[in-house]
Amino acid sequence: MVIKMRTSMHDKISERVMRIRGSGIREFFDIAQRMSDVISLGVGEPDFTAPWSVREACIYALEKGYTSYTSNWGILELREAISDMIYKETGVYYNPENEIIVTTGVSEAADIAIRAVINAGDEVILHEPSYVSYEPCTIFAGGVPVSVRTRVEDEFRLNADALESKITDRTKVLILNYPNNPTGAIMRRKDLEEIADVVCEHDLIVISDEIYSKLTYEGKHVSIASLDEEMKNRTIMLNGLSKSHAMTGFRIGFASGSPVIIEAMMKIHQYTMLCAPTTAQIAALEALRDENSVERMVAEYNRRRRMIVSGLRDIGLDCFEPKGAFYAFPSIRSTGMTSEMFARNLLFEEHVVVVPGNVFGDSGEGFIRCAYTLSQHKIREALSRIERFIDRHCRCR
Ligand code: PLP
Repeated sequence: MVIKMRTSMHDKISERVMRIRGSGIREFFDIAQRMSDVISLGVGEPDFTAPWSVREACIYALEKGYTSYTSNWGILELREAISDMIYKETGVYYNPENEIIVTTGVSEAADIAIRAVINAGDEVILHEPSYVSYEPCTIFAGGVPVSVRTRVEDEFRLNADALESKITDRTKVLILNYPNNPTGAIMRRKDLEEIADVVCEHDLIVISDEIYSKLTYEGKHVSIASLDEEMKNRTIMLNGLSKSHAMTGFRIGFASGSPVIIEAMMKIHQYTMLCAPTTAQIAALEALRDENSVERMVAEYNRRRRMIVSGLRDIGLDCFEPKGAFYAFPSIRSTGMTSEMFARNLLFEEHVVVVPGNVFGDSGEGFIRCAYTLSQHKIREALSRIERFIDRHCRCR
């Protein structure tokens, strides 16, 4: 007789997956969902609805019966529009035939970019505070994440010497994300040139997540791929429509780069995703034709940015001026609380959601992330609740 043993399902989970902590952001949202009268500065998602022309294109695509797969690469007309958009924004030309792949959001693009180039044990450098998915994706790929801190004193720009100090003979990739989530920092051309020198000297690949490129409020976005042919060749540029076009639910992203790397990414994409959703690709094509809606949204984010930064400063919090994305990243050190304590107490006492900075890595400790993806009226109300909270607790006032 076979004796049946009760097995723990935990033992069945892969070690790589067991190493990953759940998202610290989600925990706060779950608590907030059970509360009433909550104002959320937590979610990094536009409060706008995708433009009507985009929704209409999607509905029309369904009506016309576009319900089957597209090419694994994505619809060619969409790749042509993406190529034009990137050229207009950065001056870099990518051949839509073999240098651009349409993905299921930038999330997929980041994942397959990392998996396409990383061998077990290769090191991937991430600048911190950093977007939460790069580290887990690196671990899933068998790579080793290595953090390099950025500092508020440097306006959270990545410093070339700090980068170089982390490079070993196992380093293969640098992941760059500017405009940055969570800090709102951007990189100037000069900063990127210094980074590019280090990248070339150590023969690295750059995965450059530029999902917030259109949300640049001062000057123009500069891509590291635009510096010269060498950097174009070494860079996998990621972008998408979730943030700039208020299209998070459509799940459209794209990656562009050397045909050899894009072909390698395609191998993973074709066996895991097959293609990005067809109706969403058709909607994306319409979105890329409608630049006016983006300009209107960016102008509104810019007004909110000024309002939240000056509001936080008036309350007495040090707040670095974010020049991109839609996040403010004030320091809460003067309150004597940790990031988690601040966020948790603020949520329970004033029903305001912010994200503790340490969710984005240890160097985010002492900060909170406030997304200004809500109306000016609500931002004003959130600021007055934060002020009341600080008045109640703070030994510095
Ligand atoms: N990259 C960054 C820096 C982000 O902030 C986000 C979402 O918050 C993503 C990628 C994910 O984008 P997508 O919705 O296109 O998957």
